[in-house]
Amino acid sequence: MDHSQEIQENSGIDTITSRVPKSVTIDGFVCDICCEDEPGLQTFALKCDHRFCLDCYRHYVTQKIKEEGESGRIQCPADKCKVLVDSRAVTFLSNEATLHRFVSFLISFFGAYILILHQVS
Ligand SMILES: [Zn+2]
Ligand SMILES: [Zn+2]
Repeated sequence: MDHSQEIQENSGIDTITSRVPKSVTIDGFVCDICCEDEPGLQTFALKCDHRFCLDCYRHYVTQKIKEEGESGRIQCPADKCKVLVDSRAVTFLSNEATLHRFVSFLISFFGAYILILHQVS
């Protein structure tokens, strides 16, 4: 089976890179959920600008999808904020986790491949 084609079809990488929602790093940012403040921390916010670290946002959205299904009614994690996480942001946040799994898969896959090549030559 041709694995590379299967990976491309399943990864959704094209849609991730061309979509608008993006994580950003902000100097001096402290996440209200996990209190993380390390430099270079990836953060995410909706139009309401309630900003949390990407890990917390991703965890929150993933958890909501697990609990309630992808109903499109996921609200901003901030207390009492009624802004909904729009579908593109949901896609971004949930695919981000998939992407991370995908990248670590690629690394182990090609790592093993390079090892084999090395042994043959
Ligand atoms: Zn956090
Ligand atoms: Zn909000």
